[in-house]
Amino acid sequence: MTATLLTGIGLLATQDDELGELADAALLIDGSTIGWLGPAGQAPAADRRVELAGRCVLPGFVDSHAHLVFAGDRAAEFTARMTGQPYTAGGIRSTVAATRAASDDQLRANLARLAAELRAGGVTTFECKSGYGLDVATEARSVRLAAEQTPEVTFLGAHVVPSEVDRTAYLESVCGPMLEACAPHCRWVDVFCEQGAFDEAESRAVLRAGVAAGLIPRVHANQLSAGAGVQLAVELDAASADHCTHLSPADIDALAGSATVATLLPLVEFSTRSPYPDARALLDAGATVALATDCNPGSGYSTSMPLAIALAVLQMRMTPAEAVRAATAGGARALRRDDIGRLAVGQRADLVVLDAPSYLHLAYRPGVPLIHQTWIAGQPA
Ligand SMILES: [Zn+2]
Repeated sequence: MTATLLTGIGLLATQDDELGELADAALLIDGSTIGWLGPAGQAPAADRRVELAGRCVLPGFVDSHAHLVFAGDRAAEFTARMTGQPYTAGGIRSTVAATRAASDDQLRANLARLAAELRAGGVTTFECKSGYGLDVATEARSVRLAAEQTPEVTFLGAHVVPSEVDRTAYLESVCGPMLEACAPHCRWVDVFCEQGAFDEAESRAVLRAGVAAGLIPRVHANQLSAGAGVQLAVELDAASADHCTHLSPADIDALAGSATVATLLPLVEFSTRSPYPDARALLDAGATVALATDCNPGSGYSTSMPLAIALAVLQMRMTPAEAVRAATAGGARALRRDDIGRLAVGQRADLVVLDAPSYLHLAYRPGVPLIHQTWIAGQPA
């Protein structure tokens, strides 16, 4: 095993409560984990040294919410939305049709391209959902292909009811044969709990079936309207309630008093010209907040965690430190992972090196490519 010393770190923002932020630091990568970190002047010997010339080092970003298995795009829908034209091409149904028609290799290539974009933006762990197959064969294919790219695979058969299928029959499939076919490739089960998608009772049934199959729940909750999603997520000890755009004071209290992470997805509000969630209320109440991309071809086709961080600061009034925490340690909490999301001895060596002296620049210089280097499990990505 080779030990590599990253030295000349201007600011090491560990996201570890005890270690905090260190100036003029060094960090030793020992194989796939962090072997040492501290003041540069006290660094141990190493096989190799990388001089970072005052750059800032962070834990790799953890994108805990992404929809990456699909074919085609919805540029026409986006154009219609941005130009005030009526759009009639079918929204998610067009993605479902394209995904069903695509070969494994086409889906695999699209997924690999998006995963490469994520890595280029500093993401070292990402979650990936199914949900554009909506039949047993295509959902099973989707989670199998996702599992080639990440261990954090989510079964989202309950994305919407496909137009050609009876609602009751579809729910029986999602909780039965479809779940059975998908569960071996998944760690998580998710449901789109929303008017027009799945109501509270349906969502509870889907999540309970997933739990019975050994999966851990997460919920698309309170995105387009105030609803039961957040309360359901807390009731079932879901790892996260995602979107949280329309919350009541009781929802905020429930999240703050639970282990369920509030995952905010500002690239979606940005891309749909919608109001942002109230991040301040969640943080001030003591809820754990994560930031993720929600990359998908309909409501937000961006893989940029740095832009999500900039929006969290500039549009949602999070401090730069809170936004970076949410994109790293917050994402790790949302995936119930203890080995990533902060920098400390023994943690996986997942790092981002910024072409900037501080993480403040992620919000101060929005849209500028500031990712100098990404390391995943001790290897340059
Ligand atoms: Zn989503």
